[in-house]
Amino acid sequence: MAFRARHLLGIEHLAPLEITTVLDLADRYVEMSRRTVKQSDVLAGMTQINMFFESSTRTQASFELAGKRLGADVMNMSMQSSSVKKGETLIDTAMTLNAMHPDLLVVRHPSSGAVNLLASKVNCAVLNAGDGRHEHPTQALLDALTIRRAKGRIQRLTVAICGDIAHSRVARSNLILLNKMENRIRLIAPPTLMPAGVDAFGCELFDDMREGLKGCDVVMMLRLQKERMDGGFIPSEREYYHRYGLDAEKLSHAAEDAIVMHPGPMNRGVEIDGDLADDINRSVIQDQVEMGVAVRMACMDLLARNLRAERGRRIVGTMV
Ligand code: ASP
Repeated sequence: MAFRARHLLGIEHLAPLEITTVLDLADRYVEMSRRTVKQSDVLAGMTQINMFFESSTRTQASFELAGKRLGADVMNMSMQSSSVKKGETLIDTAMTLNAMHPDLLVVRHPSSGAVNLLASKVNCAVLNAGDGRHEHPTQALLDALTIRRAKGRIQRLTVAICGDIAHSRVARSNLILLNKMENRIRLIAPPTLMPAGVDAFGCELFDDMREGLKGCDVVMMLRLQKERMDGGFIPSEREYYHRYGLDAEKLSHAAEDAIVMHPGPMNRGVEIDGDLADDINRSVIQDQVEMGVAVRMACMDLLARNLRAERGRRIVGTMV
């Protein structure tokens, strides 16, 4: 099989063929999700636990729906009222859950690397739903699916990623994915929000929106991640919007058929103009949400296949 991963911890670990395998399967789940009856039994009998140590609307709902559409038993742990609040360590929480034999663990955590650590302690498949400013692999995969469906390909495109690059796991995962798929990437941000050393990824850096957007096929906007900022990175939101907020005038510098993306949650009038975000001729923001469910179904389906195969091998091993 073209998808060999045991966990989905980051785009970093995926080969281009694994990425296209996820996208191809996700295309099929888009069709299934548009039917009145959206049920399949791909994960029947399996248990999925969602552990979100950081707040989430889209991602958590999307993983929950994805699991339910595939027939899994889905449990959402409320981490706000869990034993973590009583001082339990991440590892102890993981070991406790592991003893309940889940098959899929979906984890979001504010610390970069926490999900990788957890994956090393449990014997189910772990999916990273965002760890600190490190990775958000399913976001990059759903963005890739949205781009491929809008542009007909996910190679040889010029993609601008704009805004708070420094604090964004979405930017990092997208950068890695788009690079692996041989696209031309431009990062546009004020110098205070551009991470040091990022040019090593082979992208072009800009601090002027109009210049950076010139001829781009895809414009990806990011939220100011205030929860990860300590100190003042921008003079004021008003000034930020003036220089870096995407509106129709700035977008006119991109290709005529450029699409506009945003991972959400979106701050209208800060990083993007509200009317532009709602313009169905340019904005694919709602498509991204739809693709999110399908991509998560595909990822969980592929990981479950690998898990079953691994368990099957283990049983055969004990028999010889
Ligand atoms: N929802 C995305 C994330 O969890 C982007 C954001 O929060 O701005 O990283």
